[in-house]
Amino acid sequence: MAKQQTFADKAAKAAMMKGSKCPACGEIFQPILMVTSEKSSQSGSWKFNERRVQVCKCNEKKVYS
Ligand SMILES: [Zn+2]
Repeated sequence: MAKQQTFADKAAKAAMMKGSKCPACGEIFQPILMVTSEKSSQSGSWKFNERRVQVCKCNEKKVYS
């Protein structure tokens, strides 16, 4: 069982490395790291959030705007 899980993990990782295709436009997703800053209303200090976003033709305009 443990071996099966390891294989599944590897397969999943390999698929991530290759990039998955968007079912809507057929483009390969481009994984980008988006950093957004947010000011805490309570402490007044900035905090940064890192988010991985998969970009394809469907959402590139939204992401890069
Ligand atoms: Zn798409």
